Amino acid sequence: METETKVLSKTNEFGTYEIRMESIGGQGANLAGKLLAEAGIMEIGLNGVNFASYGSEKKGTPVKSFIRFAESDKEIRLNSPVVEPHLLVIFTTVIAKNVPLLTGVKPGCMVIVNTTETPEAVRDMLKIPGGTTIYTVDAMGIAVQERVRINTTILGAVARAVDFMTRAALEETMRKTFTKKYPKLVEPNIKAFNRGYEEAVKYDVPDDGKYPVQHFQGFKPKLGWKNAPIGGAIVNPGNTVLNDLSASRSGFKPVWNEELCINCGACDSTCPDQCIIFRRDKDDKGKERQFFDHIDYKHCKGCLRCVEVCPKDALTAERE
Ligand code: SF4
Ligand code: SF4
Repeated sequence: METETKVLSKTNEFGTYEIRMESIGGQGANLAGKLLAEAGIMEIGLNGVNFASYGSEKKGTPVKSFIRFAESDKEIRLNSPVVEPHLLVIFTTVIAKNVPLLTGVKPGCMVIVNTTETPEAVRDMLKIPGGTTIYTVDAMGIAVQERVRINTTILGAVARAVDFMTRAALEETMRKTFTKKYPKLVEPNIKAFNRGYEEAVKYDVPDDGKYPVQHFQGFKPKLGWKNAPIGGAIVNPGNTVLNDLSASRSGFKPVWNEELCINCGACDSTCPDQCIIFRRDKDDKGKERQFFDHIDYKHCKGCLRCVEVCPKDALTAERE
């Protein structure tokens, strides 16, 4: 009698292995989820589903990508978000202040983080519970060097961490996908992928009870039928004061050198997001003029057009 070979060493009560990717628009988490699901289904022979949740689809806003795998003889009937992942992938830690990234991460889970910090520092920063395994990788650094987005580097770390996901399966899937649309990007992305695999640092977190498991709380709106103001008045008008687009930059930001600046205003005219802030002041002769004051990094998306147009090299692109 033949014995059935199982590919997934770990599944939940529904028989699925679940992955959640936490990212922001523009980092390629949606594509990473698709590539991962396709590799599992087409190359490894699993059943799988993938979908993403990305709100307003604006660059810089939080994005989640969900992937579920099951053995080939098991249908997947779940289409709900992954709240208790076996693997959590964090594309940027900048969103930790607004998004409960660690929801559902329990002992036995794996967490992959794009960071330049050590796994121990990341554990304390994100309050990762004990008994988990952390993989850190400087995906942004690798992506900048290889001139690609961070998603393929992160997939390298995924191939390293997940026992059933092979390097060959993901590489084959990436080759097929990129060759069709972006043939010039195939080799740089494969190189970044392999570097992500090799350079990921593993850390088994001691089961010390230092940080509790953060359970899924559900969505609780501040206003409901019991406390909504009469007439549907909007008591909390939207604004961008608390917006922070630093996570949407691609690894570089413009830095101003006051000594070289001649206050010509070319950068201000060029910036698409009005992030160059001028102030009115008096010059040496007491005449009122506009002077470069600062760069609004909260809203700067790192396009570096201001650096390109500056005639005096008073703005330079520097690594975040
Ligand atoms: S373009 Fe350069 S020189 Fe001109 S105001 Fe901006 S920083 Fe200063
Ligand atoms: S990098 Fe782009 S968004 Fe940022 S200040 Fe320069 S022009 Fe504006």
